[in-house]
Amino acid sequence: MSRDYEVIVGLEVHVELKTATKLFCGCEAAFGADPNSHTCPVCLGMPGVLPVLNREAIHLAVRSALALNCEVRPFSKFDRKQYFYPDLPKAYQISQFDEPLAEYGWVTIRPASGEGRRIGIRRIHVEEDAGKLNHLGQRLGDATGSLVDLNRAGVPLIEIVSEPDLRSAEEARLYLTELRAILSYLDVSDLRMEEGSMRCDANVSLRPVGYEGALEDLSRVEIKNVNSIRNVQRGIEYEVERQAEMLLRGERIVKETRGFDDATGRTYSQRSKEEANDYRYFPEPDLPPLVLSAEWIESVRQALPALPDAIREALVSRGIPPKDAEVLVLDREAYQYWLQATERFEDDRLVTNWMLSDVARLINARGESYAKAAVGPDGLVELLELIGSGKISGRMAKEVLEAMFETGKRAEEVVKEKGMSQITDEGAIRSIVEEVLKQHPAVIQDYLSGKEKALAFLVGQVMKQTRGQAKPDLVNQLLKDVIHHDYNTAQ
Ligand code: ZN
Ligand code: MN
Repeated sequence: MSRDYEVIVGLEVHVELKTATKLFCGCEAAFGADPNSHTCPVCLGMPGVLPVLNREAIHLAVRSALALNCEVRPFSKFDRKQYFYPDLPKAYQISQFDEPLAEYGWVTIRPASGEGRRIGIRRIHVEEDAGKLNHLGQRLGDATGSLVDLNRAGVPLIEIVSEPDLRSAEEARLYLTELRAILSYLDVSDLRMEEGSMRCDANVSLRPVGYEGALEDLSRVEIKNVNSIRNVQRGIEYEVERQAEMLLRGERIVKETRGFDDATGRTYSQRSKEEANDYRYFPEPDLPPLVLSAEWIESVRQALPALPDAIREALVSRGIPPKDAEVLVLDREAYQYWLQATERFEDDRLVTNWMLSDVARLINARGESYAKAAVGPDGLVELLELIGSGKISGRMAKEVLEAMFETGKRAEEVVKEKGMSQITDEGAIRSIVEEVLKQHPAVIQDYLSGKEKALAFLVGQVMKQTRGQAKPDLVNQLLKDVIHHDYNTAQ
């Protein structure tokens, strides 16, 4: 991209709240039921019905707002946002316009190349979701018809609107990753982008270096409803290139909404963008204003769980390298697995190393997650205890862990079945060590002349003789002892 422009990105993230029922009626809010089975006159938009606000949805929304460092307004109100589309039976969406639930928050991102940076959150408002159109056919363009499913209509959402503070596609990725991690610890949403319970729109514009006008006056393009963090990043990357090339050719950027095509990695024009006044917002007459007491907001704040920033700090203070801490903190299930394991096993580093190498590899290969892993934290701890007691070596443990994942058996059982035992008897190992040394006098000379690698060869020979069952650090120690005692003539 040309250095004559600066990238300006703002993100709007819609998050479905994990409530039992919808925002304004008693219908179930769960995903995945038969089409239109979770509907009633309220969410079908029948005339004469009245919405009743779901208290739990507001609770989850306020939890989210506080965790994202927002100021929660004691007074907010609902508004009607008009638009005509078959997935919205009322022809308006109940949302919040000029007096949203919360404002002025931030998320800290940590670019690899430098200091953490705060990305502002302009506002968080509460609104209802629309239904879903299912187009018949391979692509929208040649669909033979569309079916509407209103199970999702009326499901509670929060919309989190960032300030246009992001300066690259990579920063957008970091912001979304951190936002999702924070929300995951709050347990307010399923956060599944593929299922649409978290959706992201990206506003992208380029600012010529030296531009002094308002950001709002730059022509921005909105990329709508991208279904993964990776694709948000790809969409922004493409859009930055496209706009830069247009500007270089002297063309104007048209203000519009664009879709993202996963297969080609390109964005494509959908429609010209509505202005706020096209939505003809007006106050929702069927709902009273939302008034929240300072005491209640404070009680929600007090009940917040530990959040990623505090967890990072705690992990690092327990001696976990920052890189490993980052991997654990960004996956709430991994962190909870770690917490349970370290509660029973005192070596935090060892738990971390096993989790992030062998356990992670097996979980990924088997398509499992930490929460549903065939070997849970207790199973891992039992394995680590066998290593600690000297019954098996770390190398044997790798094989045991694989068998545990495959068979669901406990560590001790696998060790017994495989007839594994580590030779920890010094006398037994010493005689093998002496035997090996007799066979390799030249290697001993190499070692004595300073070649450290020679020792590794000898350790390997002893391990081979014992079929890997000798305790490696003991072998190491005994080799050095015997060499220095019996072979070091210089002494
Ligand atoms: Zn309903
Ligand atoms: Mn919205």
